[in-house]
Amino acid sequence: MAHRKPNLPEKTCAACARPFAWRRKWARDWEAVRFCSDACRSGRRAAGIAKVTKTTSGRLDPPARGG
Ligand SMILES: [Zn+2]
Repeated sequence: MAHRKPNLPEKTCAACARPFAWRRKWARDWEAVRFCSDACRSGRRAAGIAKVTKTTSGRLDPPARGG
């Protein structure tokens, strides 16, 4: 590979547990950074959590085939 990959440090978000790479805006306090985004930092649990909906398997009519 001719592409040069920058050797950026990575961390794991403390909120959504997803890995995120170093950002320029964190250059000053990268050691203090624990969250991947402002949303995670603010404590919102919207990101990273999948909404599970329970659906009862109903009877679905098969698509009518024209013949
Ligand atoms: Zn996060």
